[in-house]
Amino acid sequence: MSRYYLTTPIYYVTAKPHLGHAYSTIIGDALVRWHRLLGDDVHFLTGTDEHGQKVHDYAEAAGKSPQEFVDEIAPLYAQAWERLNISNDDFIRTTEQRHKVGVAELLQRCYDAGDIELDVYKGKYCVACEEYYTDDELDPGDLCRIHKRPVEYYEEENYFFRLSRFQQRLLDWYAAHPGAIKPEFRGNEAIGLIKGGLRDFSVSRTSLQWGIPLPWDAKHVAYVWFDALANYITAIGYGSDDATFQTWWPGRHLIGKDIIRHHCVYWPAMLMSAGIEPPEGYAVGGWLLVGGEKMSKTSGNVVNPLDLVDEIGVDGFRYYVLAETPYGQDGDFTYEGLIGRYNSDLANNLGNLLARVATVVGKKCDGVGPAPSPDSPLAAIAATAYDTTAQAWDDVQPSRALDATWSLIRATNAHLETNEPWKAEPGPAVDAVMGDALEALRIVAVLASPAVPDAAQAVWERIGLPGLVTDQRLPQAAAWGGYPGGLPVVKGESLFPRR
Ligand SMILES: [Zn+2]
Repeated sequence: MSRYYLTTPIYYVTAKPHLGHAYSTIIGDALVRWHRLLGDDVHFLTGTDEHGQKVHDYAEAAGKSPQEFVDEIAPLYAQAWERLNISNDDFIRTTEQRHKVGVAELLQRCYDAGDIELDVYKGKYCVACEEYYTDDELDPGDLCRIHKRPVEYYEEENYFFRLSRFQQRLLDWYAAHPGAIKPEFRGNEAIGLIKGGLRDFSVSRTSLQWGIPLPWDAKHVAYVWFDALANYITAIGYGSDDATFQTWWPGRHLIGKDIIRHHCVYWPAMLMSAGIEPPEGYAVGGWLLVGGEKMSKTSGNVVNPLDLVDEIGVDGFRYYVLAETPYGQDGDFTYEGLIGRYNSDLANNLGNLLARVATVVGKKCDGVGPAPSPDSPLAAIAATAYDTTAQAWDDVQPSRALDATWSLIRATNAHLETNEPWKAEPGPAVDAVMGDALEALRIVAVLASPAVPDAAQAVWERIGLPGLVTDQRLPQAAAWGGYPGGLPVVKGESLFPRR
């Protein structure tokens, strides 16, 4: 059994959950569900990032203490993930004690290693990014490229992490771990950042109140990276429960393309300094844009995923997010795209196949599902569909994985249309076709369950199979011939009514 520890980014609580957050969380959820089917020992972490100047300012504007403020927002994330059927094993909040203890431990180890030193920092700073920028990183007029607003000039005494010392060690590590960053072109981007030269970065602020004090100098509060990134290890017990930490680390991170530098350059260097193994892998997603722009409060294009779920169902929304955009590229969310995907893949393909099969079995087989034939023409198609699906999940390409799974649905619909069992008299010929279609549906239910867990379970039950589809294990469950026959097949209501 393999161990598979996956994290999403933790989401900053100045915004309520939106489509961009839902995107990475659903990708992560589908991945861990796939790994559970493989029999891996899975731990899936998400959470909220709750410290920093912005939180302090938002809380003040709302007339609340920072703690009151974050206590109101963090549960919105937990609730959204519950609504979206996210199967996270843990939810970390960076204001939790286990996190504070672990951050202090990590800082102290890097300090003791001599990699954190006091220095003066002067520079142009974007308050929204909480990051200093050089002139060539800014748009004309000293505008932050992400926030399109002017940066401010800051000068302060900070502790710095000596990232510049880690260039060769990072390059060596990535050379020894090819493919650690997926997709490959994002990995090349990270290597390019490292080769381009590394600047030391600031790890503390004295101007900031809302954060974790440095253990050796409490005037300073840990600045965003040592606080936020550390959640990936503090949640699994770093600094508080060493046995659990040893069980799960190193893990894998699912991140967005805008945080490659922090996750693929800063973070492994911080871990190396502290004597901890770097993460074993990264999957880097693009942005899910709305109208060609990144979703943000300032651009006013925020889409609330829960509104979409009310309309199209949890599985309809999950499927769209997973199937529409090749992972790693930017996607553009459109309402028409959502409805189009739903109708073509879910209503017309999966939903229609189930309805047809149940109807014909009801009319021609007395409602009892026949067994498949071992030499069905669909058997080879199912085997290919499984291999391609498995490879694509392994490559963190959910859209390709689902297309491969759906190829079996399309082939089964075509098989029915060729044989037209609804026109034939009941008998062995009809039974053979329907047994094969039921077997294809059984395999599809297993393979589609990471994306559409509720629908997959519904298919499973309606074709008479007992228990939970999520208890199936691959690759055995994808082998042709698993549908036993003799089971009651129920038509039920339309699984995906056309929109
Ligand atoms: Zn900015």
